[in-house]
Amino acid sequence: MSKSYLANHVKELQPSGIRKFFDLASQMENVISLGVGEPDFVTPWNVIEASYHSLEQGYTAYTANAGLFELREEISKYLQDTFSISYNPEDQLLVTVGASQAIDLALRAIVDAGDEVIVVEPCFVSYSPAISLAGGVPVSVSATADNEFKVTPEQIEAAITPRTKAIVLCSPNNPTGAVLSKEELYGIAQVIRKHDLIVLSDEIYAELAYDEAATSIASVDGMRERTILISGFSKSFAMTGWRLGYAAGPVAIMQAMTKIHQYTMMCAPTMAQHGALEALRHGNESVREMKTSYRQRRNFVVKALNEMGLSCHLPGGAFYVFPSIKETGYSSEEFAQKLLEEERVAVVPGHVFGESGEGYIRCSYATSIKQLDEAMKRMDRFIKQNSKI
Ligand code: PMP
Repeated sequence: MSKSYLANHVKELQPSGIRKFFDLASQMENVISLGVGEPDFVTPWNVIEASYHSLEQGYTAYTANAGLFELREEISKYLQDTFSISYNPEDQLLVTVGASQAIDLALRAIVDAGDEVIVVEPCFVSYSPAISLAGGVPVSVSATADNEFKVTPEQIEAAITPRTKAIVLCSPNNPTGAVLSKEELYGIAQVIRKHDLIVLSDEIYAELAYDEAATSIASVDGMRERTILISGFSKSFAMTGWRLGYAAGPVAIMQAMTKIHQYTMMCAPTMAQHGALEALRHGNESVREMKTSYRQRRNFVVKALNEMGLSCHLPGGAFYVFPSIKETGYSSEEFAQKLLEEERVAVVPGHVFGESGEGYIRCSYATSIKQLDEAMKRMDRFIKQNSKI
């Protein structure tokens, strides 16, 4: 083809750095992967069974565009019970195809061409591309290790310009595991209100906060009307493959998101929605068990990393640790590449989460203690053999 038919804004998008690494790892044998951001648990059996039953009962058609009403009611109840925020299931909740679709819809609903959206790096790889695809301009603010990867209100304020429309926050965070406390969110909220911004609050790891319960920024005074709360079932209920998430927010924004969803997706998968309904109604015990296991693994991995000389703070949530590899003298890409080649351990180089991730690696501890133990032994050997420490 002599002519390129691809749209310029898509040509400019870089493929995800995580995928690139995993394509490499998948061609090797005996690799322990600390790379993927998904639970090693299988979805709780009662959830699978509820989905089977829905099919047996013939629920194979579309649901309402916004999702099954019973599911929206159950999500509303969950948000009320967990964060004391009330959302009307009629017009303030939208069930989506994963939190991923909710992020995309939210940005497309609010961003005009050239609008700036602040992202706090290091962050989930999808935010900046989704902002660009919506016609916006991502503006990065760096959360740094000296503040346990927590962004400050001053940093946010310094990045605001007359074109700033919104900010994306993620707590508990991927990739750093940082959890913003109520007080920290309160400070950030003041800046957001002062500059009349909207917040996309990605709370997909909210159930996986180990030391103190996660707070939603939507529960801070004056923030519910300017927050699009995004969450889903992938992480806490081990349901990544089901592709089910949701968004909650002000009526006008939710209507706009539902309009885009209606034309581009119709609705989230019906059988997955029946599974999610069961997850919310009877899934608490499974979440508790998985959480207990993640907490043990977190403590194990942080201790092992610090003992081998990689400085690593204790992350409050999600299932990632983000140790510094600066002392080794390698870039994060070199470190990850060599570790994979020499010891067959796959981790993600920190720079894929934004420039401020350089000098760090992301290790997911959503894998068994046995695998983690072996991975830590291999990493320790790698550090001893390669170390410029
Ligand atoms: N937000 C964050 C912070 C994530 O880590 C992920 C998955 N890695 C998502 C959103 C997307 O989740 P889902 O599977 O619900 O699309």
